[in-house]
Amino acid sequence: MLSLDVTLAYPNFTLAIRETIPASGLTALFGRSGSGKSTLLRVIAGLDPRATGRIAWNDTVWQDGPQFTPPHKRGLGYVFQDTRLFPHLTVAKNLAYADTRARGLPGPSLGDIITALDLAPLLSRYPSTLSGGEQSRAAIGRAMLTRPEMLLMDEPFAALDAARKAEILPYLERLRDQIGTPILYVSHNMAEVARLATNLMLIDAGRITHHGPIEALLSDPNVAPALGLREAGSVIEAILTRHEDDGLSQLATSAGALLLPHVNAALGSRIRIRILAQDVMLSRSRPTGLSALNILPATVTDLRTGDGPGALVQLQIGTDRILARITRRSATALDLRAGVDCFAILKSVSVAQGNIGAMPPRAL
Ligand code: ADP
Repeated sequence: MLSLDVTLAYPNFTLAIRETIPASGLTALFGRSGSGKSTLLRVIAGLDPRATGRIAWNDTVWQDGPQFTPPHKRGLGYVFQDTRLFPHLTVAKNLAYADTRARGLPGPSLGDIITALDLAPLLSRYPSTLSGGEQSRAAIGRAMLTRPEMLLMDEPFAALDAARKAEILPYLERLRDQIGTPILYVSHNMAEVARLATNLMLIDAGRITHHGPIEALLSDPNVAPALGLREAGSVIEAILTRHEDDGLSQLATSAGALLLPHVNAALGSRIRIRILAQDVMLSRSRPTGLSALNILPATVTDLRTGDGPGALVQLQIGTDRILARITRRSATALDLRAGVDCFAILKSVSVAQGNIGAMPPRAL
């Protein structure tokens, strides 16, 4: 694990972090612009020697008082938005450059990385002939071949349009699941975070406000306001069980079966579904005559009301927890409080294909 107890004071901003980041899975560092995400990554990397405090990777201390391990000896890999491949080298030679320098270090083989990132068709090409997404894939491959202890990614796909980004995210999932190098991933895109992260760390004004497993944080009504209420929503796991004749796919969840628009995956696939709080309606009795296909029995476990007209309701469905965003008026009318049984109505559009990702093996 990465242990941090660090402070860095700029004239108008102070970063003060005391956290441990797990040495597995993908930890998303999420916060608004200017909250200190890039600064924290630079501090971890040793790129700002003004930072004071202690940083240790497992039993190896990188920084403590006068002790300071320089960036190139921390064994970290980086992929930033402006990461450039060497333009005068083919993809194969870009990869070989990293591979040769990391000879002897444990980690994935060149072949493992070429397969996971599907780089074989790109090997003989020069960077200038690649699309933005292909360049990103090759840059991630090169970073992985330095055999890093941890891969730091700072909004690596921010310059890509939505379609290119959608193309590359499955590769990152593969990297996370098949190669197992821990990843610290900076983002301010919640859909991306909900899809990729196993662990979530929220940063605000230089401090971590919340940190924990993604499922727990996203279904916590007290965390949701920090994420932005529009983006509030939980992730749950499901298994693809059937493709129906009418174009729908059936998924098994801990709370029962769900029907989604066709899910393009093999039967038996484990799938992560994101359910936005604003797409969940509640009823005290099982509704009939409703067009919504997905109605699940639920129990209220928590309720949060603020100053506004809204309320966030946390629900237990099977072994999972989800959020519903309703009005305070409805919460009162339905007499919703912890312990009350009800039905959660998920509009079938709420589980968007774009939000479906492979489940990390750790969470199976
Ligand atoms: P984020 O990555 O979350 O957008 P940053 O870490 O880039 O945020 O910046 C956090 C704050 O620190 C901002 O207010 C920024 O202006 C300030 N800051 C960043 N780098 C420096 C620097 N080298 N000198 C002074 N202030 C800085």
